[in-house]
Amino acid sequence: YRRPTGTVHCATMNTAGDISCTTSPSGLAFKVPGRVGDSPIIGAGLYVDNAIGSCGSTGRGEANLQNLCCHAAVELMRGGASPEEAGLEALKRVAQHTSPRLKDNRGRPKFGLRFYLLAKDGRHAGTSMWGPAEFAVTDSEGSRLESCQHLYRQPKGKKK
Ligand code: ASP
Repeated sequence: YRRPTGTVHCATMNTAGDISCTTSPSGLAFKVPGRVGDSPIIGAGLYVDNAIGSCGSTGRGEANLQNLCCHAAVELMRGGASPEEAGLEALKRVAQHTSPRLKDNRGRPKFGLRFYLLAKDGRHAGTSMWGPAEFAVTDSEGSRLESCQHLYRQPKGKKK
């Protein structure tokens, strides 16, 4: 079953080259009462440094809260990583820090997590714990879906 709705992250660059971004939760039903999630927490579900770039996320928010993934990814870009490298490294850190109860029998996180990254020079990437996955891009060439790089590949017919 393909959920048609959910959390979205949106990053933009204006004609002056300024970057901004937002992450909006889905209004998902059956959330734990009182749970805030990662979407509104700067550094967890989104982060932007206008000198470097931005990162936002969808998926298991607890992983982002524990690892401050979006802040980490922007710092990795500051250190010279490409958006793709930074997003994959953030996913690897999450995988390393995942408790055994949340791993499958091959040691892989059983949950989905994605990052969407934009660099100051316009390079961008989507990275996903599980692939195949896509994200939407609009630029001067129009709108299209691009593939996320993924850490693990989902068996055909399954979706995380
Ligand atoms: N990251 C959101 C949360 O954990 C959920 C989602 O992206 O699906 O609240």
